[in-house]
Amino acid sequence: LKSRPYVGRFAPSPTGELHFGSLLAATASYLDAKAHHGQWLVRIEDIDKPREIPGAADKILFQLDAYGFQWDGHIARQSANLDAYQQALTQLIADQRAFCCGCTRKQVAEAGYQGIDGPVYPGTCRQGLQGKSARTWRFQVDQTEHDFSDRIQGQLSQNIARDVGDFVLRRADGLFAYQLAVVVDDACQGITDVVRGADLLDSTPRQQLLQIALGYPQPRYAHFPLAVNPQQQKLSKQNRAPAVAYPTTGDLLIQAFRFLGLNPPISLITATMPEIWHWGIANWQINQVPTLRQRVINTE
Ligand code: GLU
Repeated sequence: LKSRPYVGRFAPSPTGELHFGSLLAATASYLDAKAHHGQWLVRIEDIDKPREIPGAADKILFQLDAYGFQWDGHIARQSANLDAYQQALTQLIADQRAFCCGCTRKQVAEAGYQGIDGPVYPGTCRQGLQGKSARTWRFQVDQTEHDFSDRIQGQLSQNIARDVGDFVLRRADGLFAYQLAVVVDDACQGITDVVRGADLLDSTPRQQLLQIALGYPQPRYAHFPLAVNPQQQKLSKQNRAPAVAYPTTGDLLIQAFRFLGLNPPISLITATMPEIWHWGIANWQINQVPTLRQRVINTE
């Protein structure tokens, strides 16, 4: 099988400015793409309009530019790809892989046990709505164990039926779910390699199931450790992770390199941004990234 030329991506949600956690995702995906002489695309994941912060997408792009990231092609936006998500859903319905569900969140929480990502759907509406009105579309998962391999985390396995259950493709409020949108986008953009934080490791089997069901090629995956604060919380706007400042020095980028297992020389601290990138790309080795699900970082 001839391998496809490398196409990577960074896919931030515009729910706030870039912070150290999202800078890491940008940095890891960029280093891996550039070390493979590949393309690096940026996609704004603005599917969840209610969670979007106005102006955040522009701010992120401005910050990326200031840190010296050079993206290829145009900036993709999920809000411009709704027809493709609908088409994929229609295909899954026609193939009897998706079904309509009338359960409320509360009903699922009461009837299902706790899984890795909320209550596991107990299959209530698989055979029909039985008088309920339609709320969500779900993907029907089968019972098999799903094995997959991650370039950083190694060989993994998940029982999707037991640990997740039939997951939502289109929500009760009409919005397409992240799992569907991301799979359609990765296929539309010809992504060969996904490099992202390990908080999304548990989503990977669901995404691979969808790729198989939709007949899409499968990207390779690499999940670096999620950056958490000393209280073990994911860095996010909610727990007040500071936005990355406009870079007057390369300090934060060098800190990101260290977090990802690189060992930059002291002299890099006084180097210019292009010199720092040059060093990072030349020295990037994915097998030096720690095989951890999370790693504490103190950004105070
Ligand atoms: N938009 C997601 C986030 O910001 C990333 C999705 C992905 O990389 O698959 O967490």
